[in-house]
Amino acid sequence: MTNRDAVFLEDLCPKLRVRRWRQSLHTFTRKSCIYCGQPSESIDHVIPRSQGGLSITENCVPACLSCNGDKSNSEAFHWYRHQRFYDPRRAMALRAWMDGDLSLALRLLQWAQPENEQAEKKSENNKDQQWHFQAA
Ligand SMILES: [Zn+2]
Repeated sequence: MTNRDAVFLEDLCPKLRVRRWRQSLHTFTRKSCIYCGQPSESIDHVIPRSQGGLSITENCVPACLSCNGDKSNSEAFHWYRHQRFYDPRRAMALRAWMDGDLSLALRLLQWAQPENEQAEKKSENNKDQQWHFQAA
C-alpha cells in the first residue's frame, strides 16, 4: 500500500484515522509507557475524559495498562510523583507533551531511557514514521 492510498483510505474511514493516530502516538515513544518506560499497551488521557480531557495528541500519551489503570481519574502529576518509578525527566517530558512540544518530550524520554533507542530502531524505521500527529 502506498502512502497516497493510506491517506485516501483514511478519508473514507475515520476509524482507520483514529487507529493510525493511536499507533503513531506509540511510535513516538517507541512503544514505551511515558510514565514508567514499560511497553505501552494503551493510550492514557492525561486529563481524564470524565474531567473534560480531549482525545487530542496533547492530552493522550502512550501508557502501560498498569499505569493507565492505576492513575485512573487522579491528577496526572500528583499521581506520578507518588510512584516508585517517578523520574523528573519523564515528568518534564509529560509537561512538554501536553504543551505540544513533542520533540522536546521525546528528547527527555530518550534521556530517561537511552537504551530504548537501539532496541526499537528496527520497528521504528517504517512508514509509521511519516505519520504526523493530529487531533482525532
Ligand atoms: Zn507504565
